[in-house]
Amino acid sequence: MSELKTLISQLENIALNPGKSVAKSVKDTGKEPIGCFPIYTPEEIVYAAGYLPVGMWGGKTEIKQADKYLQSFCCSIMRSNIEYGMKGTYDGLKAVIIPTFCDTLKCVCENWKTAVPQVPVITVVYPQNRLLDAGYQYLVTEFNRIKDEIEKLKGEKISSKNMEKSFSIYENYREAMRSFVKVVKDYPITINTRTRHLIIKAAYFMDKKDYTDIIIQIVNELKNSSAENFNGIRVVATGLIGEPVELLNIFVENNIAVVADDFAQESRQFRVQARNKGTAIEKMAYRIVDQKGCTFLYEEVKTKGQMLIDMVKESKAQAVVVVMMKFCDPEEFDYPIIKEEIEKADIPMLYIETDMQMDSYEQIRTRVQSFAEMLG
Ligand code: SF4
Repeated sequence: MSELKTLISQLENIALNPGKSVAKSVKDTGKEPIGCFPIYTPEEIVYAAGYLPVGMWGGKTEIKQADKYLQSFCCSIMRSNIEYGMKGTYDGLKAVIIPTFCDTLKCVCENWKTAVPQVPVITVVYPQNRLLDAGYQYLVTEFNRIKDEIEKLKGEKISSKNMEKSFSIYENYREAMRSFVKVVKDYPITINTRTRHLIIKAAYFMDKKDYTDIIIQIVNELKNSSAENFNGIRVVATGLIGEPVELLNIFVENNIAVVADDFAQESRQFRVQARNKGTAIEKMAYRIVDQKGCTFLYEEVKTKGQMLIDMVKESKAQAVVVVMMKFCDPEEFDYPIIKEEIEKADIPMLYIETDMQMDSYEQIRTRVQSFAEMLG
């Protein structure tokens, strides 16, 4: 158990101290870092080129300069990323890669060039109609273009062997994470909602291979102990990101455990297993084609609501918690659809709006307490 505690606290510390953690990973691996904006940045190509992919999901900082480029109604993740960039926090990055899933991201791709000119930007454009063969073919072409851009940055070609090796390291990571989220739902006391999030988040600041080794050890240690007798409330959580961490503390205080998630920063990253055919780039494209229930990937008929209902049943949860990042318009557009479906299924739901720069949590605390009392 003490080994388990050490591993957990190691990953928690990494997630809580991204700057220091990335500096340490750079020192340990000798790799230069490349910043990967949300949501599906093709990290495997970055890794194959010998760079260290680093997640850029915002953070808490006072917004002073970013207002020049992003209005106050833009999401706080992008506002903080631009602010950090302008403050020089990201000067050590070799480049950043920015996908264009929403209007804010589209603007940020261009804003970045002027606001943070010292860090080059590579943009990725995902197809709307990814379920058509033409959409898939386009995505393969786009990933190959990103590969060319990274090769130019590095000054050398990425071999097919390195692409395959990198893809396999990422598949091992994703398999380990699927196993992690499946196992930890039976240990909601040791791996509470806050700890679960921090463990998953640590992956964004480490070499994926090193991170995967630790996750496998954590899963094995947990499997060696009996499932925990938890008398609190079990929920499925959805949204872009389960932050700020203070929000998760409130869940822990109220004995609420996330037993399954659909967060873009968490399970959406690893829930799709790759097809077993094609080159690494083709498999990467198929992973996007095969992703279901993601707000950012077009579906003629939205499957997210039913997916959440199924997750509630599978994980024996009592409710759904929607953590809405203000003002993430794609997630907001989906909300009325999933709300109606979840209500029809008679599943209790809590909707919380968050912001990376939040200072006061008292309103949320009251709402979470009431929710816990209602279900307790
Ligand atoms: S609006 Fe949503 S999808 Fe777009 S950058 Fe912000 S958080 Fe990401």
